[in-house]
Amino acid sequence: MVRAPWQVKAIYCGTMIAIDAARLTRRLDALARFGALPGGGVTRHCWGPAYEDARTWLLGEMRAAGLTSWVDGAGNVFGGIGIDRFSAERPAIVTGSHIDTVPEGGTLDGALGVIAGLECLHTIVANKAAPRRPLVVAAWSDEEGRYGSLFGSRAFCKGIDASAIPEMTAVDGEKLVDVMRRAGFDPARIPEAKAPAGAVGGYVELHIEQGPRLEEAGVQIGVVQAIVGVRRSRIVFHGQADHAGTTPMPRRRDAFLGAADYALRAREHVVTRGSDVSVTNIGVVYVHPGASNIVPGRTELVHEMRDPDPAVLERLWNECRDLADAIAKERQLRVEIRPTSATVPAPCSPNVQSAIESVCAKLGLSTQRMYSAAGHDAQNLAAITEAGMIFIPSVGGKSHRTDETSDPGAIEGGANVLLHTLLTLAA
Ligand SMILES: [Zn+2]
Repeated sequence: MVRAPWQVKAIYCGTMIAIDAARLTRRLDALARFGALPGGGVTRHCWGPAYEDARTWLLGEMRAAGLTSWVDGAGNVFGGIGIDRFSAERPAIVTGSHIDTVPEGGTLDGALGVIAGLECLHTIVANKAAPRRPLVVAAWSDEEGRYGSLFGSRAFCKGIDASAIPEMTAVDGEKLVDVMRRAGFDPARIPEAKAPAGAVGGYVELHIEQGPRLEEAGVQIGVVQAIVGVRRSRIVFHGQADHAGTTPMPRRRDAFLGAADYALRAREHVVTRGSDVSVTNIGVVYVHPGASNIVPGRTELVHEMRDPDPAVLERLWNECRDLADAIAKERQLRVEIRPTSATVPAPCSPNVQSAIESVCAKLGLSTQRMYSAAGHDAQNLAAITEAGMIFIPSVGGKSHRTDETSDPGAIEGGANVLLHTLLTLAA
């Protein structure tokens, strides 16, 4: 494995301004203490006590950095230069990410984009380098989606239907309206979070790659071309529950075997017939009635597929549906297939991609264009403005786990790429 050299310091000895790496690290460490776990890593659900403490801390850091700050009806936190509310009259260049985490998550997923964004704006204020257009750093609420995928940025970019809010419930049964009220928010005001049309003039988000590709290629910066679309469907095989001892083997209509056959063949199909970046996963399986002495009468699974090309995703979805039908027929089962969610792939703006690449060229950092196989707030922003993403390598490709980390040089380098990309877009 090639370790990328991070000799960014020397490159900044010129007229270019640079972020303060020590301050960035200090803030990342401070944020990591909210919801910290004894063995490392962090659990910080949006609207939970640790999250609310982190929000208060973040607002304080924004003010101390000389930024304006405000919070919208969906709980999104903003810090700005030359702006205190979004308006179509003065479109802002926005950066950001999220400060919520998955359970037992790492300290950089999301946190890096918010804290580096804050550091960039702090650096701009300290150097009196404010560009013509307003700049904003955002901490989008509930990116990890306790209440639906990319909640805060969705509320901001697309709007949340007021009638759906009372029913929004997390997997552990907590209602959104309850957790918001407990955190001092009025859920009725969520729809007010939708940004006025034209209020955002560009968006760029710094994030850890969360996969191994940059590290394995020895490349310092990933320039995201598109964020993949995700299709999920619930597939239920119906067979016949029977006595597991007395029913002769040839007579069994085992719903679990239908699901197992599907799991293996659907994977094979996506690997051989998808694009070279198609991925698939079956992460949820329920076997009913779930007893060792009963032949499974019903088995449900949740099948997920991702690809950056909407046509590929559509074709794979249709082919997998045909496969489920064929398997049900072969095994004398009945199958029900219900699409549960579909996000469309989000292409990143060519202008933002080339802005990132020319900044990297000036800073002497190597780049590679790539797809994001994970969902990000940037995909919602891509629906309303020119959006892009900067990736830095994840050590060992590890993420959504407590030992997620990146090289300190990569963090500093990525933040400097973000700084100069923001200045380019806002010039
Ligand atoms: Zn993230």
